[in-house]
Parts: sequence; structure tokens; C-alpha cells
Amino acid sequence: MTEIRDTVILGSGCAGLTAAIYTARAGLKPLIIEGHEPGGQLSMTTLVENFPGWPEGIQGPELIENMKKQAERFGAGFQSAHLNSVDLSAHPIKLQTSAGEIETRTLIVASGASARWLGLPSEQALIGHGVSSCATCDGFFFRGKEIAVVGGGDSAMEEALFLTRFATKVTLLHRRESFRASKIMLERAIAHSNIELRTNTVVEEVLGVEEKEVKGLRLKDVKTGGMDELKISGLFLGIGHEPNAKMFAGQLDLDEEGYIKTTGNVLTTLKGVVVRGVFACGDVQDRRYRQAITAAGSGCMAALEAEKFLEAVGH
Ligand code: NAP
Repeated sequence: MTEIRDTVILGSGCAGLTAAIYTARAGLKPLIIEGHEPGGQLSMTTLVENFPGWPEGIQGPELIENMKKQAERFGAGFQSAHLNSVDLSAHPIKLQTSAGEIETRTLIVASGASARWLGLPSEQALIGHGVSSCATCDGFFFRGKEIAVVGGGDSAMEEALFLTRFATKVTLLHRRESFRASKIMLERAIAHSNIELRTNTVVEEVLGVEEKEVKGLRLKDVKTGGMDELKISGLFLGIGHEPNAKMFAGQLDLDEEGYIKTTGNVLTTLKGVVVRGVFACGDVQDRRYRQAITAAGSGCMAALEAEKFLEAVGH
């Protein structure tokens, strides 16, 4: 017979690991399904300057590794697998994962969000050949080269600033006049001598598909309609993320952009009625704040709610 677990956590980013620390410390022996991007977005970032408790900042991967160790210390188990399907109407809940079937009394969904792409065929063809959504993973390959970053939010600013360590010039392309980025990040990018900002500009095509390496971009000025080409060797996307919640469509209420809707902070619903034993936390349910600290906070709330639920049903 399959063992029925008290708590399974989907996702091993900041929210999932915080939920793991709390549920493990409460003696629930949580199992964390690590997912497609173990460690989540923090594991792909650089210096985190705004996580309380680190006056000099801390590298994202180190922060994540610390959280994992902390959860393991209290008995959390980690499974390198991803979810194929789930039946939330079954009690216990049944999960089909790449590592087999798992049954659990409570499920904490902390599956996060994944990088968004422009969707151009030329961009898709050149992913891994000069097109990337992860500056920290791929920046190293562009030492001494000129590159471009797309986006107008904090991610784009952070990527552009980070990439100046390698690239001789970074052109930041944004589709509008005004930026979504915080003042401090935008000011840093503007002040950097190796970053050039181009507003009202969209990428029409990534050049180099035949050569199998990025050679440049065909750009359009959305105000004048004028077209031109920019010679670059790398294109980085910093245009936000999409929630990893598609597998819950029809079983949990999702909003119009696919984020899991929650009530009472982390309780999930179906047609407005609370789904018992299923909690959501972190970026998969947060379209507004999306910070490491808010993800951690909601991971804590999900863990406390899971504990309360198990107590109420006598486990
Ligand atoms: P975001 O704030 O949603 O910004 C996404 C940017 O990409 C926007 O400027 C948007 O343009 C642009 N964009 C979206 N789709 C596009 C498309 N198809 N073509 C061209 N441009 C497109 O996302 P984010 O920058 O990833 O930030 C997410 C959250 O994480 C924010 O709360 C941010 O503060 C936080 N964050 C913080 C830090 C930090 O403090 N160090 C670092 C990274 C992220 P429009 O403006 O025209 O919509």
C-alpha cells in the first residue's frame, strides 16, 4: 500500500521551502516535489539586497540553499520530480508525478512562475543559441560582446546591470515610454555608461536563424513605425513570468491570467467554495507583490493552515 503523507509541497522556491521549514518543524515530514526549476526564481538571480536579515545582501542561490538545508534539518524530504496530473477531488489527494503516484492529506501548491517569451518564431528557434531568459545562467557566454535586454521592469534592469559584467554594451529595449521598474533600479541602469536605453521599441525578428546563432535584431519604433537593425550577439528576455498553474485548471479557480485565486491569504477555491486541504502560496497565487519575502511569508501561512487542517481532521 502507498504511504499516505500528511503534506506534499509542489515547488522548491522561496515559498515552497518556507512551507517546508514550517511543516517539517511541526513534525509533518513534508515531501517537496522540486519541479522543473529547482530552487525557483531566486536560484537564477544574483544579489538579493532586500531580504531582511542580510545587511550586505545575499546571493539568491545561497539563500535558497540555506533554506533547503534548514528544511532538511527538521526532516523535510526532497524528490527530484515534476507533477504530471493531480486529482484534488480524491481524499487523500492523488498526485501522479514523474517519480510515481503519491497520496497526501494536504497539498501546498508553491509551483511559482516561469519566464515569459516574446513568442516570435525566430526567438524560439534561437533559444540556447544566443537567446536566453536567464542572465545569471548565460551571461558568461557573452564576454566582450554586445547584447540586448527586452523589458521595462525590475527584472530587465537587474539583467542589464548584471550583464555589464560580461558584455561591452547592453541595449535595453522597452516597448513604452515609461518604465515599470522601481526608481532605484532604473536610475542605476540610466547611470551605467555601458547601458543604452531605447524606449518605444519592439523586436520584430531575431536575426541569425539560418546561422544558428544570434546576429542581430530587427527593431520597430512603435511611435514612428520606423524599422532598423541592431547588431548584437545575445538577446535576454526580462519581460516577466507566467504562473505554473495550468495543471489545476478546472480543479481550482484561476484568474484571467492563470494565477491561482486564494481567499483568506492561502486557501484555494473551486467555483468560490474552499477546496479542503489544498493551499497555494508564492508567485503562483501572487500577481501583485512577487517578492522573495512575500513568497516566504505566504509559504509560512500555507504551512500553518495545513497544520490547522490536519489537526481539525484528527491527524
Ligand atoms: P514586470 O514588473 O511585470 O515587468 C515586465 C516588463 O516586461 C514590463 O515593462 C512589460 O512592459 C514588459 N513586457 C511584458 N510582456 C512584453 C512583451 N511581450 N514584449 C515586450 N515587453 C513586454 O516583471 P518583472 O520585471 O519580472 O518584475 C516582477 C516583480 O519582481 C516586480 O514586483 C519586481 O519589483 C520584482 N523584482 C524585483 C527585483 C529587485 O528588486 N531587485 C528584481 C527583479 C524583480 P509594460 O511595462 O509595457 O507592461
